[in-house]
Formats: sequence, C-alpha cells, structure tokens
Amino acid sequence: MPEEPNDATPFLPERSSLKSLREAAAGCRGCHLWRGATQTVFGEGRKRSRLMLVGEQPGDREDLEGRPFVGPASRELNRALEAAGIKRADAYLTNVVKHFKFEERGGRRIHQTPKRFEVEACRPWFDEELKVVRPEALVVLGATAAKALFGSAFRVTAHRGELLDSELAELVTATLHPSSILRGPDEDREANREALVADLRVVARALDDSDGGRQSDR
Ligand code: SF4
Repeated sequence: MPEEPNDATPFLPERSSLKSLREAAAGCRGCHLWRGATQTVFGEGRKRSRLMLVGEQPGDREDLEGRPFVGPASRELNRALEAAGIKRADAYLTNVVKHFKFEERGGRRIHQTPKRFEVEACRPWFDEELKVVRPEALVVLGATAAKALFGSAFRVTAHRGELLDSELAELVTATLHPSSILRGPDEDREANREALVADLRVVARALDDSDGGRQSDR
C-alpha cells in the first residue's frame, strides 16, 4: 500500500486569497485525516481582520456544519469575547488542523488530539491564512495550537495571557481553549472562564492602545 502523504503543500493554490485557499483546502488530501471527516473546516472571517484566533481542530458540530467554532465550545468563546469587549465578527477564526480527528465510541464521535505529524501536515494552510489576513493580533487557543506555533516545550498554563515575542504577528498571546473549560472539572469552570476573559482583555486593550497610537499619529 502506498504511504499516506503528510504535507498539504501540494494542495495549495497558485495564488493565495481566502477564497482560493478555502476552495483548495476543500480538496486537501495532505494527510489521512480527511478520510473519516465530513469536510474540511477552513477559517472564517474578513480578510483584513485585526485579530485572528487559532484553535486546535474542528469538533463534531464544526465537521458537520463546515464552520469553525460553532459547537458547544463556541458558546464559551462567544461569551468570553463579549466579556472582553471583542466582536466575534471582527475576528478571523481558524484551527491549526482543518479536519476533525475522532474515534467512534458507543455511536458517538469522540475528539482525539491530533498528533504532531498531522499538525505539521496541515500547517501550510494556517501559514497562508496568516499571510493573507496579516492580523495585528493573534490569540492561540489551547495547548495543541500553542505547541504547533511556539514549539513542544511551550506551556499554555505557564504563559497564558502574556504578550509573546513572536514573528507571527505584532501582538501574540496564548490562552485556554474554550473546550478545555467544558472538559475540565466543574469546580474549575468559573475560574477558567475568568482566566480566558482576562487573557482576551489583554489583547483587546493592546489593540485599543495601538489604535489610539495610530490615530494620534495622524
Ligand atoms: S487535516 Fe489538513 S493536511 Fe490533513 S487532509 Fe485535512 S486539510 Fe489536508
């Protein structure tokens, strides 16, 4: 049997725009994850969004609907964005892996964390999204996305909410993935919710400051 490919690069369009990337990603066979999933779940948002949020991978609902952050975790995210004063419509939302990885258990599809080689295979899509959108701020949600972008030694719990030195964008931070709030123990839920809001506020404030700076330069 031929070996499975492990790189999305051959599937990238000749010229990258959000439209051409989305269309090309729909046919990506850069790794084995497309086989079990319903469809590619590409990023969503405006081309010139000042803020990009990047999570791990689509979940069950996202896989069925073909849109990122529409499942149960999206309610957590929406609530946190609102509390931090960020309009979801102003942000570009995506994942480092564009197909849902799961195992079937008792008739249900249970999320499985993508392995490093799967994250690496899918990385070219995120890199192209970043090049096209060029957000001022990037918020990395959860350990899988953070390790993919900052290296395997990175610990979200140790560095969440810090403005990180990174070439990915002017303002870069990492925080909890909203689904980890739901998966975590009940007794930690409120504290984790507050932590997510606090981390998002860091970015909201930094974006406001850079806005103020830009206006006073005029
Ligand atoms: S997970 Fe990424 S690299 Fe793998 S098939 Fe899907 S879009 Fe392509």
